[in-house]
Amino acid sequence: MSFDSLGLNADILRAVTEQGYSEPTPVQRQAIPVVLAGRDLMASAQTGTGKTAGFTLPLLQKLSSSDTNPKGRRPVRALILTPTRELAAQVAENVRDYSKYLNIRSLVVFGGVSINPQMMKLRSGVDVLIATPGRLLDLEHQNAVDLSQVEILVLDEADRMLDMGFIHDIRRVLAKLPAKRQNLLFSATFSDEIRGLASKLLHNPEEVSVARRNTASEQIAQHVHFVDKKRKRELLSFLIGRDNWQQVLVFTRTKHGANHLTEQLSKDGITAAAIHGNKSQGARTRALSDFKEGKIRVLVATDIAARGIDISELPHVVNYELPNVPEDYVHRIGRTGRAAATGEALSLVCVDEHKLLRDIERLLKREIPRIAVDGYEPDPTIKAEPIINGRQQRGGGGRGAPQGNRGGGQGNSRGGERSNASGERSQSTGQRRPSAGAGRGAKPEGAGGAARNKTRQRRSNPA
Ligand code: AMP
Repeated sequence: MSFDSLGLNADILRAVTEQGYSEPTPVQRQAIPVVLAGRDLMASAQTGTGKTAGFTLPLLQKLSSSDTNPKGRRPVRALILTPTRELAAQVAENVRDYSKYLNIRSLVVFGGVSINPQMMKLRSGVDVLIATPGRLLDLEHQNAVDLSQVEILVLDEADRMLDMGFIHDIRRVLAKLPAKRQNLLFSATFSDEIRGLASKLLHNPEEVSVARRNTASEQIAQHVHFVDKKRKRELLSFLIGRDNWQQVLVFTRTKHGANHLTEQLSKDGITAAAIHGNKSQGARTRALSDFKEGKIRVLVATDIAARGIDISELPHVVNYELPNVPEDYVHRIGRTGRAAATGEALSLVCVDEHKLLRDIERLLKREIPRIAVDGYEPDPTIKAEPIINGRQQRGGGGRGAPQGNRGGGQGNSRGGERSNASGERSQSTGQRRPSAGAGRGAKPEGAGGAARNKTRQRRSNPA
């Protein structure tokens, strides 16, 4: 199926072609005709599925095909609410790209930056406003924005908005909108709370659902590496150096953890920056653009800060710590392998996290393949291994939980599985190797020790 058959006008198709999209994604195929028909929509789709174009393209077409008010101030006709500043900025960039050949003005507003320039721009008239709820309400209270003419409302990542406690803000925004309007709700998950919101917000909605990325995408190679908590940083630095990873998004659970890891990586000679809620908006934007431009190799992020980050062809995502909420794992790994690209998601799991891993694997309904680099194994006295379907998982050698280093003889890749972390590469990247810890024999020692440092794959027990 091509974009031409979806009923979009030539100006929009031209912009889409310039983006390099050859055919619509499943959510676009389903959502675009519904939105063009003027129906309310409830879509189950997460970031990475192409959902933004799924609502933006038909929204732009609808705005451009009906009359704008040429006289006086242009009222906001479409309002897109997002939970985070990063997602707002990302959506706004998409809107700008897709409306390149249309006479449509768009603006993004979010907190953490000065409100005055936003007020000035609103004064000169905006057709499509992309906003986070808090700043939108601030602007509204100051009479800087008129929401009484909104024709289309989009709630993007509605589940996140509720998770982040925006429900009251959303209600306040809804109260400012005209009763007659088209409503589009996008959410990765559909909890009772979301359904409750949807039932109040949407009128006779069309439901669209695309397969979750975790079940649909074979483009993301997922792996787990069991490792002692204290040695995670060392292993991460080692993998980045050994495999010459140039762009890695690393997730930590806490803001403090993100800062600390960033400092440690910098000491290892790896350029890194942290992005989280305690950073100023300017610092967040700078870190993200430095990362996108390749000025820094590692971006260390907390879950919330990373929402909406869209980096084309991001090859590596590392869960330095597993998230407490299993769904966040899916969101995290969705940063890689997006659209047509492939990627790898590696989770560094210590013994405290086995329960979290189990919860994630239950959600995925499958075991994530294990890999191990010799010398970076969990404490051999620790027996715990994830139990899936009530059964203890066994390593490739039928020995159960990962043991301490068993010597160089097991250094070769096993099992038929693809892994970016495996292979023969041993190039020196000029960065410091991790130092050898006390009492560990087969530690990575730089390029010369590469034969012993190959990733060993454990085949999970398929039976
Ligand atoms: P989204 O889910 O909206 O965050 O989009 C994920 C990524 O897919 C973005 O980088 C888009 O630019 C890209 N994308 C959206 N639609 C298409 C398409 N039809 N073909 C290829 N890439 C797309």
